[in-house]
Amino acid sequence: LDDITARKADIHEQKVFAEELQKQISEKIKLERQKNDFISMASHELKTPVTSIKGYTQALQRRFSKAGNTEAETFLIKMDNQINKLTSLIGDLLDATKVTAGQLQYNIEDFDFNELIQEITEEMQQTSRKHQIKLTLDSNVLVSGDRNRIGQVVTNLLSNAIKYSPKANEVLIHTKVSARQVTVTVEDHGIGISQKNQQNVFEQFFRASGSSDNTFAGLGLGLFIASEIIKRHSGEISVSSEEGKGSSFTITLPIERLL
Ligand code: ADP
Repeated sequence: LDDITARKADIHEQKVFAEELQKQISEKIKLERQKNDFISMASHELKTPVTSIKGYTQALQRRFSKAGNTEAETFLIKMDNQINKLTSLIGDLLDATKVTAGQLQYNIEDFDFNELIQEITEEMQQTSRKHQIKLTLDSNVLVSGDRNRIGQVVTNLLSNAIKYSPKANEVLIHTKVSARQVTVTVEDHGIGISQKNQQNVFEQFFRASGSSDNTFAGLGLGLFIASEIIKRHSGEISVSSEEGKGSSFTITLPIERLL
């Protein structure tokens, strides 16, 4: 009888422990969801005034340009560049909350791959005076996917390559087509990433040292979002890097057909 009583007490203890654990997990999930909802709401609220400021800045820029006031125009161009950075940070925050909630939407269509890569490279080159972006394209292919989202990933890799290469002035991007897939590699000769940190760069909010001490601005969301987008296209994203020498990020995507 004593044995049964002891076993009963044991079972009861285990039940209480399991219930407590479940309560703690539910609480944690609730807090995570609240955090995600808050970031999402705050980013939405930030979006409207920033869009409005951008509109006014551009209007003023046109006015000063017409009047030949080059000094004011230069300041306004700088303001516009900073507003673009802010817009992109807000966009990353929103996208990250959508990834976490499993709500990132995709518009799937067949698109000309080289055309997209060329377009993104030219856009990035226009915003970067110091760095030369050298593009080498392999034969062209049709890819089925969300053109804007894949463009967002390539933009992110190029912008990181530039950001983390304060001393080098060259960034390379090239594509390679094989039987069933196409790869895009973005290579820089910048600060590089240690072997240990390479394992974590695709995690949400992860920033390697040098980034975390604010030498380089950022939220640690770009690669997290990129990795989700590529995974949802049945592709892969990877990094190879040597500290102090540079980094190389590669994305692989399945292709529809050759063009
Ligand atoms: P962010 O650049 O906003 O910090 P990312 O998610 O794009 O966020 O990158 C995560 C981290 O990976 C960065 O903080 C940086 O430490 C490292 N990283 C990414 N790209 C590069 C690169 N090309 N060279 C060196 N470090 C990089």
